[in-house]
Amino acid sequence: MVIVPTATIRGVRTTPPQLGSQPALREANSQRIVTAIRHHGALTQVEIAAATGLSQATVSTIVKHLVGQGVVDTRTTVRTGRRAQLVTLAQRSGLAVGVQIGSRSLRVLVGDSGYEGLSERVLPLPRDHRADTTLDRVALLIVDLLEDLGADLSDVVGVGIALPPSRSPGTERLRPVDAADEWHETDVAEVLSRRLGVPVVVEQDATAGAVGELRFGAGRGATDILYVRCSYLVNAGIVLGGRPFRGRRGLSGEVGHVEVDPSGAICTCGSRGCLNTVVGADALTDLLRISRPRITLRDLIALALEGDAGCRQVIADAGAAIGAVVAGLALALDPEKVVVGGELAQTGELLIGPLRDALSRRVPLAGVGGVDVVAGELGSESEVQGLVALAFDAAATGATASAGKEQT
Ligand SMILES: [Zn+2]
Repeated sequence: MVIVPTATIRGVRTTPPQLGSQPALREANSQRIVTAIRHHGALTQVEIAAATGLSQATVSTIVKHLVGQGVVDTRTTVRTGRRAQLVTLAQRSGLAVGVQIGSRSLRVLVGDSGYEGLSERVLPLPRDHRADTTLDRVALLIVDLLEDLGADLSDVVGVGIALPPSRSPGTERLRPVDAADEWHETDVAEVLSRRLGVPVVVEQDATAGAVGELRFGAGRGATDILYVRCSYLVNAGIVLGGRPFRGRRGLSGEVGHVEVDPSGAICTCGSRGCLNTVVGADALTDLLRISRPRITLRDLIALALEGDAGCRQVIADAGAAIGAVVAGLALALDPEKVVVGGELAQTGELLIGPLRDALSRRVPLAGVGGVDVVAGELGSESEVQGLVALAFDAAATGATASAGKEQT
């Protein structure tokens, strides 16, 4: 397949306009329209006006302009018995890459502006993988996947990369748990954007998962969701008003470090009795050390699904413990939905049932109009799909963490 680079979303920003000028206003309005279409999919001009708050006349003018730039396409459709112009993002207006670096695996997805995942690869990583070699593998893998598509780096508008939450809240950097300390010193966005010559944005994995589920999965149609990522460790991604809420240092949603046992074990963060010391992968497998001394998290999940009573008990108790902490966050933020993802969510209601019960024990969260607790729909792809979307967003708004090829 040959990817034909056309005028892209980058085309919206070809000439940097002066703030407050007519071009600046038009650019801001163009971005609102592109974001609305990206959020909701194909929309009529009337629907775009409703979604953006712009007048229909303004929408009409800007859509014509965006069609001219090749950013959007229009086609005639029928809505409520009337002919209407349906506006979509132009196909093939560039590619974006989502990269998720986990404690033990690496996942890369290349997607186009229609949010079709075009090519994906997953590789295992050693337990203490190093930043330099892992980022080398990421760069090679991206080039490989693009070659498979008949494309190259010049077709890529941006890369979104996610790391697990930091081991110790209080530091500025996000870094993979279990990885060598060298990750602490690595500016991942800078290193990767220099190596690839494309803009790179870095996001915490749960926030990326929240965006993925909001745009394409269980959170579609909602504006305020919590995405609880139950993996080797637990953390949460927060979306408020349709936008990721990251906090001052990108550490929002670190529910894994909420105290659940005042006399419990010391966590990797240095605090005592964090949720992660009770429901992290090591803690869960440790509970089974008498009957299954060398069990892994993956085995634990598989055995629970096969009906093993001990493993089911471990998962259910983890769901209850996570739910009790998430209830606090839900009371504070009043989300429409709590979406549960990560490896443990593969056990479905074994985990989510007790998690939901724990939330519903907080009376304001229960009953009609209460918070909806559901499984993620994208499975292990929530994060990379969210990252592709975030990379396109950053390309459209110029909000990249590092210098891109235009500047280098
Ligand atoms: Zn902790």
